[in-house]
Amino acid sequence: MTRPDDLSGYLDYNATTPLRRQARAAVAEALELAGNPSSVHGPGRAAWRRLSQAREQVAGLVGVGADQVIFTSGATEANNLAIAGSGRGRILVSAIEHDCVLAAAGPAAERIPVTADGIVDLAALEAALTAYDARNALVCVMLANNETGAIQPIAEVVELCRRRGAALLVDCAQAAGRIPLPPQVLSADYVTLSAHKFGGPKGVGALIKAPDAALDPLLVGGAHEGRLRAGTENLPGIVGMGAAAEAAATELTAFAALAALRDRLEAGLRAVCPDAPVYGAAAPRLPNTTSVGMPGVPAETQVMHFDLAGYAVSAGAACSSGKVTRSHVLDAMGAGPAAETAVRVSLGWTTTAEAIDGFVAQWAKLYTRRQRRAA
Ligand code: PLP
Repeated sequence: MTRPDDLSGYLDYNATTPLRRQARAAVAEALELAGNPSSVHGPGRAAWRRLSQAREQVAGLVGVGADQVIFTSGATEANNLAIAGSGRGRILVSAIEHDCVLAAAGPAAERIPVTADGIVDLAALEAALTAYDARNALVCVMLANNETGAIQPIAEVVELCRRRGAALLVDCAQAAGRIPLPPQVLSADYVTLSAHKFGGPKGVGALIKAPDAALDPLLVGGAHEGRLRAGTENLPGIVGMGAAAEAAATELTAFAALAALRDRLEAGLRAVCPDAPVYGAAAPRLPNTTSVGMPGVPAETQVMHFDLAGYAVSAGAACSSGKVTRSHVLDAMGAGPAAETAVRVSLGWTTTAEAIDGFVAQWAKLYTRRQRRAA
């Protein structure tokens, strides 16, 4: 067994990332700030200045004004806030949205299908918006999917929504700080972020709201965050998020280079089993993500095998790991029962070629053992 602080086999960056050095230092510094950012005295103003700096840093990552940033406890809260607060009566969600979007949108939400590669069906979205009442609609399409890494055609979605008068929420939790955000994202009404996906602390995120977008708060009882999210701000978390945002923005090229390791992994697995399905392989994808099936071997068995060998990966949706349910993302892509053998491997800045080769060797070991047993 590996030590919990040994990250050499950590291949679950889409579940969460290790804390960046810069974020750790910033959190430690913010923990020493005694004042409440809402207080008018000196210590309060010092805390406020640090909060404002973090707001600028997060805004800088996305390319928006600092006054558009509303800090929250994470992307889950930010998505809930946007959906509940948009005031729109009709909610349309892509079928591959994160559980927090699907649950916040509720059972009455209309689901827009995706292609076999996990890309939102633009014709279906257009038909749904044309059918009726788009001006009362909120469309939710994520930028990058957490399971397959598939990057959605956001420019086209923005254009469709604008033409029909629908509001748009783009969940950028997996994309921000990892890939350059397409400039069209800035035209969305709501954009959501999660610090712990780009090297910030867990339990902090943000909703970026367009200046003219409607928003009713979920949490009331204070003037914090422009009266849109009451409660004393999580200053250490927010300051850590700001530092991580700034660091991540300077490392997008290094993140893009992870595609070479991801490709090495997929080529290695396919050399062992040419039929191993890679979900979303034909779509534009996050450079760090692969979702790959091991024919005949349940995902839970694989996750346990890899864990014992020192590799941390996820079965199904990472945020619901621990309770392994069938992936609604792979279901929506029409993967069928084979999806139960899919494991998500997601790389990051601690991943090495040795780790990839070691993982491939472990994959081959389990697969050939199962093949022999089945023969
Ligand atoms: N949206 C997406 C696409 C995610 O991948 C996640 C977490 O995995 C979330 C939202 C929830 O983010 P948080 O953990 O900050 O609540």
